[in-house]
Amino acid sequence: SSRMAKSSFEYVKSFEIEDVLLPNTWIVVRLDGKCFHKFSDDHNFSKPNDIRALKLMNYAAFIVINEFNDLLMAYGQSDEYSFIFKKNSSLYKRRAAKLLTTVNSKFSSSYVYYWSKFFGDEKLKYPPTFDGRIILYPSEENLIDYMKWRQADVHINNLYNTTFWTLVLRGDLSPMQAKKRLCGTVSADKNEILFKEFNINYNNEPEIFKRGTLLIRKTLPDASNEKSYSIIVDTHCDMLKDKFWEEHANLLSIKSSKVKNFYNGPITE
Ligand code: ATP
Ligand code: ATP
Ligand code: MG
Ligand code: MG
Ligand code: MG
Repeated sequence: SSRMAKSSFEYVKSFEIEDVLLPNTWIVVRLDGKCFHKFSDDHNFSKPNDIRALKLMNYAAFIVINEFNDLLMAYGQSDEYSFIFKKNSSLYKRRAAKLLTTVNSKFSSSYVYYWSKFFGDEKLKYPPTFDGRIILYPSEENLIDYMKWRQADVHINNLYNTTFWTLVLRGDLSPMQAKKRLCGTVSADKNEILFKEFNINYNNEPEIFKRGTLLIRKTLPDASNEKSYSIIVDTHCDMLKDKFWEEHANLLSIKSSKVKNFYNGPITE
């Protein structure tokens, strides 16, 4: 109340620390599940890739993008999601804590809220936790390298995990033996193990496993052609190729549409 606001206690407000982020830089918010190694075991995720879990992550990220017009795109893999705000965003006056906590909170609550939409009868046994951080990137090159870094991480991890779990589940090795077998191997060795011993062509693995998911806004003309509207789509593009960034140059600066967004990705199924 206004009586409280003018009280002699009000000085405590001045203890709050300013956390306004540097202007004119891309704001990246990255969330990561806490102890998802255990969480995935506790909820019977299939190994190495549980598609239900990936779809739930994507859907929770879609809810976040839909909420904040200033979000250009989001990229997710495993138990993490990165959200990229446009350079000139003034959302929450660029206050770091506000941005990080609202994005994390909306994502985390959506993950729980929509759990059964993807997991059906598999019960959520306890509330999951996500940590979060903010990173600022001053140049296009840095931001693109960030996206490449996260996608390269999926590639390395997924090739390892696919080979590891194939050796365990189909090659009858113990986890310890599989780990030993893969120690010191390079990508080509793992591809060869999969192909020669198990007749698996790694290239034919699902794109979502190999590349993670990039959620982007697509602007489409309205049927009447008078105003455009944007939708959010999930893609599994190869962001490591410079060609991708040449063809999607608008991603880094796209003007967010005021018109309502809706989701048409196949991941709602
Ligand atoms: P931290 O709290 O430090 O992040 P963590 O156990 O979450 O610890 P991460 O490096 O984030 O460690 O790894 C996430 C782990 O969650 C993966 O190693 C994998 O075991 C599991 N995981 C996440 N998503 C999936 C999925 N879709 N399918 C199967 N397992 C998954
Ligand atoms: P924190 O305790 O701050 O969470 P972390 O080690 O979990 O530290 P993240 O930034 O969460 O760091 O790392 C996410 C992923 O990025 C890791 O799973 C790893 O694959 C990769 N990674 C982390 N640090 C490095 C690094 N210095 N060089 C290369 N890859 C890294
Ligand atoms: Mg971490
Ligand atoms: Mg984690
Ligand atoms: Mg992780």
